[in-house]
Amino acid sequence: MRKLYWFQNDLRVQDNPGLLAQQDAERLLLVYLFPVNRPWCNVTGMGAQRERFLRESLQSLQRELGALGQNLLVLHGSAELVIPELVRDYGIDEVATTLTPGYYERRTRAALRSRLPVPLRVHEGNNLFREDALPFALADLPGQFTPFRKAVEALPVAAPQPAPTRLPRPPAAGFEIVPGADEKPHTALPIRGGTPSGQRRLRQFIFDERSIERYKHTRNCLNPLEGSSTLSPWLATGALSPREVVAAVRRFEDEQVANESTYWLVFELLWREFFHWRAYQDDVALFRLRPAGGRKRLHNCTFEPRSFARWCSGSTDFPLVNALMRQLVATGWMSNRGRQIAASCLVNELDIDWRYGAAFFEKHLLDFDVASNYGNWQYLAGVGADPRGGRHFNLAKQASEYDPEGHFVEKWQGRQPQQPKYVTDAADWPIVGTE
Ligand SMILES: Cc1cc2nc3c(=O)[nH]c(=O)nc-3n(C[C@H](O)[C@H](O)[C@H](O)COP(=O)(O)OP(=O)(O)OC[C@H]3O[C@@H](n4cnc5c(N)ncnc54)[C@H](O)[C@@H]3O)c2cc1C
Repeated sequence: MRKLYWFQNDLRVQDNPGLLAQQDAERLLLVYLFPVNRPWCNVTGMGAQRERFLRESLQSLQRELGALGQNLLVLHGSAELVIPELVRDYGIDEVATTLTPGYYERRTRAALRSRLPVPLRVHEGNNLFREDALPFALADLPGQFTPFRKAVEALPVAAPQPAPTRLPRPPAAGFEIVPGADEKPHTALPIRGGTPSGQRRLRQFIFDERSIERYKHTRNCLNPLEGSSTLSPWLATGALSPREVVAAVRRFEDEQVANESTYWLVFELLWREFFHWRAYQDDVALFRLRPAGGRKRLHNCTFEPRSFARWCSGSTDFPLVNALMRQLVATGWMSNRGRQIAASCLVNELDIDWRYGAAFFEKHLLDFDVASNYGNWQYLAGVGADPRGGRHFNLAKQASEYDPEGHFVEKWQGRQPQQPKYVTDAADWPIVGTE
């Protein structure tokens, strides 16, 4: 049987149930499609760092597949159009992929099911738990994190599966190597895409530097690779599976020490889990300004493009927010604390529709993950899973708590706005002014 496996956010050969299920094929075509550019909320395209990291992840996967006698065909175009053509051209009998959250993703699967003349098999593989292991039907999924966590915390997490030693041959040879990006990693976050780099970081964080022992107290650090694990870019691209991370934590707990910090890393992965399952359930509501009420007054019926542009470029009246936004654009990453502060500023100080902020994050984050990004934004804006109905941070207090010496603001030049507050027209009238 000739099979086609479509990689999405599971760019790895180890612990990949979808890929492992292809081993009995007579010929196997492995495919990846670059994300389709869907402009929205004044944002278009993919940030340079995110694109670089993705290209490196694909190059790394190509190398690993090469060692297994395989190759990866990387194309541009929407799956609905490209995959049926490949099925025809290569005489494919079955298509498979890994389940991934998101409204477009679900619609694409439905479109493929109706257009393909062969079956589409969808494997689960990017979460800690399989859907049938959850102690509730997806329709009864708790709307808030705490009841979800309490219900799933004691469930066993499956051990990661090793990579196959060999894969069936591809139906054709000579697919092109994915070209690298011109962009280099920023010196503030010198990391590369792909499983070997992700596994190195996992080892470093847990075993070599034993940073996990203090994680609960350091996780709010604004710099990457210092306080929190910074594993998100590899988890989001799928170069690492969340089960590999849990397995490493469990090994450290068995061999070294188990404490509240080792517990907390798994606790945070449960947030990821929560937002993923919620995204399957919420579907298009994940992108609604106010899906089901929510406390926010949301009086932003006139959109202020100047305020949004200033937030994006790090030119607001808040030096810490400016520094965070510049860190995001330059490196492709921002800490969880930073994301909360920047999001609170957009929603509460600038009164902008949260989806504009989410779209800008989507463009730049190396770890962009539709469920975690839009789920966290809704939570912050008070229209999602937050029992407290949104978070309004006191930005001065946050700055004194998390950047008391101002080193972070200084490093990213948060006190030097790059955009003027007002833009004037030909007759020198302010055409946009907020105060
Ligand atoms: C507005 C906003 C947008 C966000 N967008 C994304 C996104 O697109 N992709 C993404 O992976 N995370 C997102 N997060 C969650 C979180 O900020 C990042 O996962 C975290 O900062 C990544 O750094 P780390 O790997 O060092 O995290 P650690 O603190 O080391 O946590 C370990 C892992 O747990 C998971 N995790 C931790 N916190 C969360 C959380 N709040 N929600 C979901 N998963 C979590 C991540 O997979 C992370 O890699 C967002 C948070 C906010 C407030």
